[in-house]
Amino acid sequence: MLIEKYDVEVFTPPCEPGAERYAAKARLTADISEVLPYLNATLRGAVYMPEASALTWKKGGHNIAFHAYEIATSNVDDREDAEKELKGLIDLVNRTWERRAEITPDVTTRQRPTPMAIYKLLPHTNCKHCGEPTCYSFALKLTASQKKIADCPPLSEPQYAEKLSALQEIVIEAPAIG
Ligand code: SF4
Repeated sequence: MLIEKYDVEVFTPPCEPGAERYAAKARLTADISEVLPYLNATLRGAVYMPEASALTWKKGGHNIAFHAYEIATSNVDDREDAEKELKGLIDLVNRTWERRAEITPDVTTRQRPTPMAIYKLLPHTNCKHCGEPTCYSFALKLTASQKKIADCPPLSEPQYAEKLSALQEIVIEAPAIG
């Protein structure tokens, strides 16, 4: 097991004093730098920065950051929620480390698509079926992982099949973990 011990710290994000949502960190006693290329190979949507020994990932509404001796998550309700989220991430790191012989590590840095790149592949009808006032506003939410491709029903119509397929190639929707 790579991570055996850690301490959890829950705090208000410095950019949001007085916020009712919190951020949290697990401070690790083990250096997890070596597992980052394996996480990069297996976590859809991860962005790996080898020079900083850091990997960021979006999981649902959480922004996750893995560093050498630290795992951080945004947007938790309270300490109990923070401990649950961080435990799920630590289990993920440990499982990935145990499976490393089966994984080809990836040291490349992938870029997330821009809202405009996503917008170009939407139907441009502003029909509002996704709950957003415009396709561009949907593109912004999709970029921020606040919406899913499936939230745009017109994309499943046959005339948008090519656009849908292109979107599925570039938009990474994080799987559930934990
Ligand atoms: S449902 Fe799709 S087509 Fe309609 S506004 Fe939303 S993104 Fe545009």
